[in-house]
Amino acid sequence: MSKDSMKTTCPYCGVGCGIEIKRTDIVGDESHPANAGLLCTKGAALSECVKSPRRLLVPTIQGTEVSWEQATDEIAERMFSAIAQYGPESVAMYLSGQLLTEDYYVANKLMKGFVGSSNIETNTRLCMMSAVSAHIRAFGEDVVPVNYDDIEQTEMLILVGANSVWTHPVLYRRIEAARANNPNFKLVVIDPRETVTSRQADLHLCIESEGDVLLFNGLLRYMIDNRAVDSKYIKQSTDGFGDVWRHLQEVKYQLHAIGANLNVEWDDLRKFYDWFMTSLTAITMFGQGVNQSQTGVDKANAIINCHLASGKIGKPGCGPFSLTGQPNAMGGREVGVLSTQLAVHRGFDPQSTRAVQDYWQSPVIANKPGLKTIDMFDAIEAGQIKVLWIIGTNPAISMPDSDKVRQILRRCSCVIVSDISADSDTLEYADVVLPAAGWGEKRGMVTNAGRILSRQRAFTSAPGMAKPDWWSICQVGGKLCELLATHNGFEFPNEAAIFREYAGLTAINETSPYQFHLSRLAGITDQQYSTWQPRAWPFDSKRPFADGVFSTPDGRARFVWVSPPEVNNDQWWMNSGRHRDQWHTMTRTGSIPRLASNEVEPTVYLNSASLKRLYLTPGYIAQIRRDKYSAPVYARVAVDDGLRGQQLFMSIHWANRYGGKSNVNRAIGCEVDDLSGQPAFKSWPVEIEAVEMGSYGLYIGHERPLPSSDYRCFQQEHHCGIWRFANIKQLTQDDFRLIRGEKILRWELDECWMMITVKRDEPLGLMRITGLLAVSDAPIEMDYLQGVALIGQPLALDPLMAFSSSKVRRRLICACYRVTDHHILGAIAESNQVSLNDLQQNLKCGTNCGSCLVELKSLIQPIEDELLAQQEAERVEEEILRGDSDDDLIEEFVTIGREPSDEDINQSKSQ
Ligand code: SF4
Repeated sequence: MSKDSMKTTCPYCGVGCGIEIKRTDIVGDESHPANAGLLCTKGAALSECVKSPRRLLVPTIQGTEVSWEQATDEIAERMFSAIAQYGPESVAMYLSGQLLTEDYYVANKLMKGFVGSSNIETNTRLCMMSAVSAHIRAFGEDVVPVNYDDIEQTEMLILVGANSVWTHPVLYRRIEAARANNPNFKLVVIDPRETVTSRQADLHLCIESEGDVLLFNGLLRYMIDNRAVDSKYIKQSTDGFGDVWRHLQEVKYQLHAIGANLNVEWDDLRKFYDWFMTSLTAITMFGQGVNQSQTGVDKANAIINCHLASGKIGKPGCGPFSLTGQPNAMGGREVGVLSTQLAVHRGFDPQSTRAVQDYWQSPVIANKPGLKTIDMFDAIEAGQIKVLWIIGTNPAISMPDSDKVRQILRRCSCVIVSDISADSDTLEYADVVLPAAGWGEKRGMVTNAGRILSRQRAFTSAPGMAKPDWWSICQVGGKLCELLATHNGFEFPNEAAIFREYAGLTAINETSPYQFHLSRLAGITDQQYSTWQPRAWPFDSKRPFADGVFSTPDGRARFVWVSPPEVNNDQWWMNSGRHRDQWHTMTRTGSIPRLASNEVEPTVYLNSASLKRLYLTPGYIAQIRRDKYSAPVYARVAVDDGLRGQQLFMSIHWANRYGGKSNVNRAIGCEVDDLSGQPAFKSWPVEIEAVEMGSYGLYIGHERPLPSSDYRCFQQEHHCGIWRFANIKQLTQDDFRLIRGEKILRWELDECWMMITVKRDEPLGLMRITGLLAVSDAPIEMDYLQGVALIGQPLALDPLMAFSSSKVRRRLICACYRVTDHHILGAIAESNQVSLNDLQQNLKCGTNCGSCLVELKSLIQPIEDELLAQQEAERVEEEILRGDSDDDLIEEFVTIGREPSDEDINQSKSQ
């Protein structure tokens, strides 16, 4: 690190890209092993996220501003009295995969060693727990046996249930580069939805929803039938193969039966099975399509079974690779900040509890698992949990059945919320609010999906009274220790001291079958911690399970028999997920205009056949419900013919400020995978129907009172906002209140009525446009960017007329330079050239972070093909006119009964 730059890590996804903070810029860290300098659109927009205008700045109790002293006193006393009156299980913490390792460590120590309860969870339960449970079932420990370097060493990569071009963009570019460097590399995508990722694959298996277990059981049967299992490995390093083998003898695991059940072409299925069987190396990366299911653990174990049976694990370029969603979800798993683990990969056996309590010198120790997230909220509803401390997450939006979660939070006796953003919906239910330091303001360690430990570093000061989470937890911890009359286990001078203690605790694993320990770092100095360079554990460069020895008591991995679930495909089902440019509930990314312009309003996608069947029209509003008793989620309808069957897709991001009531989790139920406790966000049965809206509206301008709406969303632009809304009742001009001092122009147009608000710019004597409102009985299709450009401009008729008659729906391709499909198609039409280079030179699209390149190429490829076909047709026509067409020659040769060779054609031409 030079004096002029500082290195840190991206706070968004589990790829864990390194970032370099330069004097005037934030760029990718070329030396970081996760990204080698690459960033995606979200990473590239980080400088805008740091300047977020909507920060929490001061602690409050019941809405009144207080000092940190008062706030932490209040929390410690509420915890103490709950413990004294109702027992330790009446206190709970709910954290986030965004926290740093040091935050996790002190929170886990507080709950399990001083409160004496395991009721501590992170939102990792909602995204990773199926993989965690499958690892523990198969390996005896939650260890990911693969890291990113394996991508360059494999010849086959299978992506299951992951749209990585959108959700892990930098990782996908690494896959793309590995593929370009190896002509034998095969990319297979398994997904019930055709996505931008599946379109890049050598093979896409568009299987039925929840078909993964059957697919991978079929692969194992195919390997067995073809004698392609690694018998030596199975014998030496595993247990339970015989049981799995016996179950697989059923006819339903034969190739033809699987093809029919999964609705996949027999040839494609065999191709996948043959490729896996004959490839010397293979990685199976799996994402939320596997994890977020009621059978998520079984799906992951079905994948792991295939790697164990083929011996494709513990070797370079081989293994099952669970993708993490959040930047430090893995760090939380390592610390053990989950109700089902004690600490550092240890469970609640007497040996582990004794070792941890001895190390912590704590007055108590939790000796049994606590409640998993969904059960924890049920326990709050039942009045068993009285104090809930939520840090860095927004359960009022991110939990399934989010309406019920809101009711539960409302009823909880004491809700404490630590957050950076005033936009978190959960704040509405908080008794105590703590302002937290955010990315760039706090220091700590994170672990990415590939076990790489990297530093997040502070390069700016926290605003107002915001403090790092570890600090507030330690303040409360110290005060609780005083009330409990025990020694203070939370006197840490800095983050490095916490990390040292944490690394020291992991030493209990050194003499055990557990692979995870960082004990070498127990003596790390402040200076070494400060200058830490990213490194993957194990630090001795040993690959986990390379010796064929696993973390089970006998050292053998377990085959786990998993039976495919019965699935009803004759119903509408919701596949919810991330959109390309947004993060979680938009509290950090929603206010960044270039990230807000990809998906501009809550949208439900369906294929054309479904649209017809449901009498839905693109652009109009539909309502989605869990059942006829649940509240509707309103969303704009759009076509996506990549969605197979009765599948719907909606993004997860729409929270109150940006998406009104269009939070998809209101329609998703709370049933979970029994083992992992993970909800089925990816395959939930729903009902959908059209809603007759009396009015659709679009308002562009400065914030103003708008009538309350059934459907409403907000998009942030640089100097104004865009509100889209729809009402079941018809709106009239009287529903819009005027603001003092503004003048109004009213227009009646064929398709809508408009109100244009203007204000006098006194020094210049000009009337400037402050707002544009259009209301119609049909969706407003005006080009909002033209409208945005008019705000603040002097009133003039021509541009207003142009805006009112504009009808462009744009799709943002390049977020960095805000280049839309409209710009790209326009440039191509103008030059009649389809060259990526030309487009990059003229429009700059894809030249900054480059994460839109795949979409850019997908957009221009069909046009390029069409142009080439057109040019070829013109060439042939010219040749026919000249009388020397190959087709004429071909006809000539066909008459003599054989197809002409190139040589025949050349000879004939030269005659
Ligand atoms: S892929 Fe994007 S969001 Fe994920 S860590 Fe890298 S820059 Fe951040």
